[in-house]
Amino acid sequence: MAFPITRLRRLRQSEPMRSLVRETRLTPESFVYPMFVCPGEGVRKEVRSMPGVFNLSVDQAVKEAEQTHSLGVPSVILFGLPEKKDEVATGAWEENGIVQQAARAIKREIPELIIMGDVCLCEYMSHGHCGIVRASRPQSLGAAVAAPPSATTEYEIVNDASLEILARTAVSLARAGVDIIAPSDMMDGRVAAIRKALDAAGLINTPILSYAAKFASGFYGPFREAADSTPQFGDRRSYQMDGANLREAMREIELDIEEGTDMIMVKPAMPYLDVIAAARQRFDLPLAAYQVSGEFAMIEAAARNNWIDRERVMLESLQSIRRAGASIILTYYAKEAAKLLG
Ligand SMILES: [Zn+2]
Repeated sequence: MAFPITRLRRLRQSEPMRSLVRETRLTPESFVYPMFVCPGEGVRKEVRSMPGVFNLSVDQAVKEAEQTHSLGVPSVILFGLPEKKDEVATGAWEENGIVQQAARAIKREIPELIIMGDVCLCEYMSHGHCGIVRASRPQSLGAAVAAPPSATTEYEIVNDASLEILARTAVSLARAGVDIIAPSDMMDGRVAAIRKALDAAGLINTPILSYAAKFASGFYGPFREAADSTPQFGDRRSYQMDGANLREAMREIELDIEEGTDMIMVKPAMPYLDVIAAARQRFDLPLAAYQVSGEFAMIEAAARNNWIDRERVMLESLQSIRRAGASIILTYYAKEAAKLLG
């Protein structure tokens, strides 16, 4: 049946009519709010390239988490800025690490808020890479520590030795009250290593949300300022995915599922909506997408110039991620979008 019998405009006549036939709905229940926790007290330091996003000391992070929860956002994800960095990411896995402190404090005040813990090493390594760095292939963590990296030599991000530290970090975070372990490092085999370590520690009920398809992306720029995690040399292309590869993304996701992840994530979101859509079609696990710092910063910058309608573009960008198939959205807009949708 074609025109003039069929007229699609009939169902667009009014907002109630459009709402009735709307295929995709955004709700605050699907949002996760990222927070950056730093040492100190009363610290609330705005990230230059991310207006409205702050480095927060633990006391301030608790306040921010309370506010987030009161807006109907069910979850936060924590990133840490440690007191000091070293070659084995001590700040990531020590019992009194900054994220561990924040998790305990938030759990104490708002037990029903779901805390995700990002598991990676870059924020805690002096060189800013997501794994152990060394000039040649070490067989163990001890060997890697004995041979610290140098910016001037050929280096390698050592996969298997990094797994040890990632697994140790995951257990430490879960013990501190983190509800969901979210590895973002992109080492091969990390999900299996983390699952095994969690189970061995008796943490059999702690789910894993793997950053299964994480692409090497220019859109991470502002985050590196927020988390102080810029690599001091080289780049992350030997572990994060090549942005050109959709089929490889499916393999990455499949492997993480085989290794026991409970949920999967695609990151970044908007430049990779096709990957989200393909993952939704192919896999049945809960699917998350991370609207990353650069996606946020672009909208903010354009809005500051009055080049776009900020709120409209904010919601449209989130809707595109939802429509592509992600049911969980990690976004710096979680609080504001929740207010607008509320
Ligand atoms: Zn990292």
